[in-house]
Amino acid sequence: MLCRYTIPGKNGSLEEGKCLLNYVWYTNIAGEASELQEAMTDTTGRKHHHTLPIGKMQSAVWDKQRALARRVLPQPFAELIDKTTQPFISTISDIDVSQPVFYGGKLLFVGDALMPFRPHVACSTNQAALNAMLLEKLLRGEIDLTTWETQVLDYAHATRLRSITWGCWYQVGYYAFFASELQYLATLCGQGFRRLYRSAFG
Ligand SMILES: Cc1cc2nc3c(=O)[nH]c(=O)nc-3n(C[C@H](O)[C@H](O)[C@H](O)COP(=O)(O)OP(=O)(O)OC[C@H]3O[C@@H](n4cnc5c(N)ncnc54)[C@H](O)[C@@H]3O)c2cc1C
Repeated sequence: MLCRYTIPGKNGSLEEGKCLLNYVWYTNIAGEASELQEAMTDTTGRKHHHTLPIGKMQSAVWDKQRALARRVLPQPFAELIDKTTQPFISTISDIDVSQPVFYGGKLLFVGDALMPFRPHVACSTNQAALNAMLLEKLLRGEIDLTTWETQVLDYAHATRLRSITWGCWYQVGYYAFFASELQYLATLCGQGFRRLYRSAFG
């Protein structure tokens, strides 16, 4: 799957020639595959686990990807790949963090540090913003730490599962999609019941 979107250029401009194009090309490679190890090894021979930085991709790896683009992508997308001079790679990991509060509230995890999502839902910035807004409420004393933790975790867990559902739909297949969708719906129901119970019984 390749996802392309326009992002504003200088001063927020969306005018042709002044805005930017962002794209992400998702590729499934088994974690232990030599192809992945090769792609994540930079021009100096160093292996990276999560991000192969800009300017460090081996030219042979990128040449292979460009050749694949010419074979499988529609012409405008193949051209986009061909004109990309500084690609980078981020691997996608599913991590389920169940604890955002440490040392009795002296250390709080927010945003990407709390829970990374699969990027298909484009909700990671939402999470960072939500966590920051709730943190402001916590610091002002408008909510307590338990409420902060519950709201932060509810969003993180539900969105993580939704991101897996979308990822499975686009990248894996129907069976994985339905299995993950069931888990997502069960989590939403569980959260809904918990909210109802709390509002009824405190
Ligand atoms: C290519 C790409 C495309 C993306 N597209 C989207 C999208 O379309 N929609 C979306 O919602 N999200 C998108 N994201 C994800 C989004 O950028 C992140 O989820 C979001 O920035 C997370 O915010 P954050 O504040 O948690 O972390 P960050 O934005 O990573 O902020 C962490 C900050 O901490 C700083 N820092 C790190 N270590 C230290 C240290 N030791 N001391 C002091 N400072 C430190 C870093 O420099 C950084 O400024 C994209 C990400 C990438 C890489």
